[in-house]
Amino acid sequence: MKPIQIAIDGPAGAGKSTIAKKLSELLNYIYIDTGAMYRAITYMVLQEGINTGDIDGIVKLSERIEIRFENDSIYANGRNLDHEVRGIEVTQSVSHIAQIPQVRSILVKIQREIAANHNVVMDGRDIGTNVLQDATLKIFLTASVEERALRRFQEMIGKVENVDLEAVKADISKRDKMDKERAHSPLVKAKDAVEIDTTNYSIDDVINKIIFLLKEKISITN
Ligand code: C5P
Repeated sequence: MKPIQIAIDGPAGAGKSTIAKKLSELLNYIYIDTGAMYRAITYMVLQEGINTGDIDGIVKLSERIEIRFENDSIYANGRNLDHEVRGIEVTQSVSHIAQIPQVRSILVKIQREIAANHNVVMDGRDIGTNVLQDATLKIFLTASVEERALRRFQEMIGKVENVDLEAVKADISKRDKMDKERAHSPLVKAKDAVEIDTTNYSIDDVINKIIFLLKEKISITN
């Protein structure tokens, strides 16, 4: 039987990873945070001192990195990078690295391999439009940019020094623009995705809605 695949896409701070992780725990599916994979490559690029404009150097490095997940943790060449991939420098550079088609195809191949053999909840920007085009259920999560910036800001308080709400908002807007306007697999809602605006909903409300939609799909397709 084909594994069940739930694709969750949307802009930064829409609640994708919180919702996808919780949903995967409830359903006992594997959770794949594809953003963490792009972040892991970005971290390695920065570590090796490769210029973010050096496409050849980045592609060569990407070919040498073995990316995998274990218990929702991200590993690159056997090293756990859960903490490192959340750094400010990585966040500021990741959308540049994610524009490189060769980097995308390396990561998309891994993502498809995992989803071919397991029930998954996978979140990212191009899951419904490209990675898992036949996913059982496609969700597109949105929220106003103010709300998304506020959520990120609240996450950062106490962890990062001198956080500034306006700077967080500017950062999110810049990343959204790059992700939406890139040539390869831009951030766009798949035609058959259900859009959920999370601005005024709790995490549990959104999860309940997704489970309701999944039950509808499974009873139709099985
Ligand atoms: O989801 P997260 O905010 O961690 O993703 C970081 C960046 O990785 C995004 O802004 C985007 O540039 C890139 N990304 C992507 N495709 C995905 C997941 C993430 O291009 N499927």
